[in-house]
Amino acid sequence: MALRLSFYGGAGKVTGSNFLIEGVRGKILIDCGIEQGADFVEEHNYGDFHYDVKSVDALVLTHAHLDHVGRIPKLVRDGFRGKIYMTPPTRDLAELILRDSLGILGEEARRRGIAPLYEEQDVEKTFALIETLDYHTEKEVAPGLSVYLRNTGHILGSASVRIKDEDGVAVALTGDIGNSPSPLLPDWEPITDSDAIVMESVYGDRLHPPHAERVNTLRDTLKRAIARGGTILIPAFSLERTQLMLYELSNFFSAKELPEIPIFLDSPLAIHVTAVYEKWGPTYFKKSIEDEIKREGSIFKFPFLKQTLSRDESLAIDKVPGPKIIIAGAGMSHGGRIGKWEVKYLPDPTTTLIIVGYQAPGSPGRRMMEGATSVRLNGIEVKIKAKVENLHGWSAHADRDELLKFAEASLPQAGGRTKTIFTAIGEPSAERFLAQRIHDYLGGNAIVPELGQTWEITKDSVKKI
Ligand SMILES: [Zn+2]
Repeated sequence: MALRLSFYGGAGKVTGSNFLIEGVRGKILIDCGIEQGADFVEEHNYGDFHYDVKSVDALVLTHAHLDHVGRIPKLVRDGFRGKIYMTPPTRDLAELILRDSLGILGEEARRRGIAPLYEEQDVEKTFALIETLDYHTEKEVAPGLSVYLRNTGHILGSASVRIKDEDGVAVALTGDIGNSPSPLLPDWEPITDSDAIVMESVYGDRLHPPHAERVNTLRDTLKRAIARGGTILIPAFSLERTQLMLYELSNFFSAKELPEIPIFLDSPLAIHVTAVYEKWGPTYFKKSIEDEIKREGSIFKFPFLKQTLSRDESLAIDKVPGPKIIIAGAGMSHGGRIGKWEVKYLPDPTTTLIIVGYQAPGSPGRRMMEGATSVRLNGIEVKIKAKVENLHGWSAHADRDELLKFAEASLPQAGGRTKTIFTAIGEPSAERFLAQRIHDYLGGNAIVPELGQTWEITKDSVKKI
């Protein structure tokens, strides 16, 4: 028998992950994310899904990033009534991410003069459909189709999803693959039991610096920024990157490698996400960190870190003289509290803006990273006199060589059974580059899928239909 795999998002694009797998009787959707670029939500996300939403039996999530979950409440509003499966940490994180997105979506819809992508009641209905499924537990979630999750080391709770039919034909989707070894999470697990794999390619054509080097560069950049005496802005992705930053900052300060200056975690979302990390860390972090938590209690808190949850606490940051560090979202500077601080501090030459993550083409963050002298933020054209530092290697994504290692571990010569690897969730050049290397270096069959395509997968063949 065969499985059909369709690419409805995340083909030729980093964001908007959305894949459909159909067996003889059942249909499972993997991820339902929004596509982001110059706007928080690209316009076509407001349109109809390209499949019959009501006929889908179940949705399985790889992880809680918005580009993997952000369109679910619209799916529910459009008639999806199946169960939504994810790991327990992903449930807690996805609930925070979706609630938080309501504000930004509302703002964007007002600006565009259209109805929001979804509203609070759609989010609440979504939560009622959630069921948790832990790693390494096989479960039938649609007629004739079972699912099995493995750790991908990308963010807390992140999972690859393997779907198998009654005849044993199996397809796996990696979601995002972690930049292992992560300071916090166990390394990604290989997928050795699938006929085909859809793997991410975000950094398919680029290398990250070694882990020790990224920590040294962060410390040196902060030292220079502190010496300039101004405000240090870190637009942070609230999920994972912020917790990594807090962990490294806490290490710098406890080793007395940096002078003690005020640090503000100025993001209600990041504050809540950090609490979820505190809750699940003892179960899902790597062993060495679990021991550290037992010894030290929290690994994310230190005495001069202030979490500014309320608006008043946030406003009061302005009165604190520099040097000071403000960590706030959104990570690509699409609105959020960082926008307010960027408007205020970027025209000041003593300010340092530290960029620590992927910036989508067209986003304000990408333009600043590429040296723009002015950028439009919160509807205001802002002159950039600040020093912009672009730090590499803090991505939560595997780089070129790590992705190749992941691919290799799934192939028959390493004991796996994967005959075809689809390179997706990347910019087209990165997807093509990774596919070429899988072919040239590993002798594997790699395909760069296109948006809207459907492929039929059996134990012996893969063909486009
Ligand atoms: Zn992700």
